[in-house]
Amino acid sequence: MLSTYDYLRLLPKAELHCHFVSTMRVSTLVELAAAHDVALKTDDLDALLDYEGLPDFLDVFNAAHLALTTGDEIARVAYEGVEDAVRDGNLRYREYFINPDNFAPRGIDYASLIDAVTDGLVQAERDYGVGFRIVAAINRSLPAATAVRMVETVIAHPRDCVVGIGMDDLTPELTEDPLRFREAYELATRHGLKTSAHVGETMNASPWNVVDALETLGVDRIDHGYRVVDDADALARAAASGIPFTCTPHSTRMLSGWEFDPSHRIAQMVRAGLPVTLATDDAVFFKTDIGREYTDALPGMGMDDAQAARIARAGFEAAWCDPAQRDRMLAEADAQILALSALR
Ligand SMILES: [Zn+2]
Repeated sequence: MLSTYDYLRLLPKAELHCHFVSTMRVSTLVELAAAHDVALKTDDLDALLDYEGLPDFLDVFNAAHLALTTGDEIARVAYEGVEDAVRDGNLRYREYFINPDNFAPRGIDYASLIDAVTDGLVQAERDYGVGFRIVAAINRSLPAATAVRMVETVIAHPRDCVVGIGMDDLTPELTEDPLRFREAYELATRHGLKTSAHVGETMNASPWNVVDALETLGVDRIDHGYRVVDDADALARAAASGIPFTCTPHSTRMLSGWEFDPSHRIAQMVRAGLPVTLATDDAVFFKTDIGREYTDALPGMGMDDAQAARIARAGFEAAWCDPAQRDRMLAEADAQILALSALR
């Protein structure tokens, strides 16, 4: 008899909302920060990840970028992150947001960055069978023109594993303002790149940011998007679009204080029929992992086995890999889900 905890932990998972540096082992961060004279507030592994507020978190997030100075270090972080997620939650596939502009202060150019991450992830794929793709992310705190330049760079250095663009962080005015980056999205779409956007995340955001991303930017996926349930018209339009949502339960508890109960906005999204899949967002830096996103959140939200399996499966369905790989992963996931269900 398999416990609910083990069933949820062992479900095969495709994680589609994961920021690359946040998969860095905290022990590796401390080691590399010391090696490269990057200041951390403490060497205590636990205390390092206790934040007083968002600026405190961003200090660690920025330090993680500065601690990566060579291709070998970047490849190592990529590899270790897969190793941990396979152990913690049966990860089978992952898509990574990488902000090329965040690596510029260390002089790491786009192509070198992508090739180093790919080296580590290809090795991990060989050892653990975990597939991957990369999404180049716009850092919204930088100007719209910088975002356009970033997309131009992606287009100028094509890599098979880089399949799309996203956008994270907030504008300098602490808003989401997805339409500020419309030119970058139009350019990416014209060149066959997929697109997603972080929108509708907290109570400071509007449900209409989700609609703007869906209908004006024409995104292929929404990251977060929780506020869409707060407006019936916006929700109906999201449901009609069929566009998938990558939701990150722990970050909603951390940043918005939303408890894991049946009224949680993610549970409302599932009940409304939106294609929802779960992810960690900032795994290590939010003290979570892909297993815990399922084991901690779903029972409290009132989700049963079938709903949990549906959510896990949605991750493979919404993956931006080629269709043959997606079909193969789905067939393997279905076989694993069937085997797990037989033990319940
Ligand atoms: Zn995110």
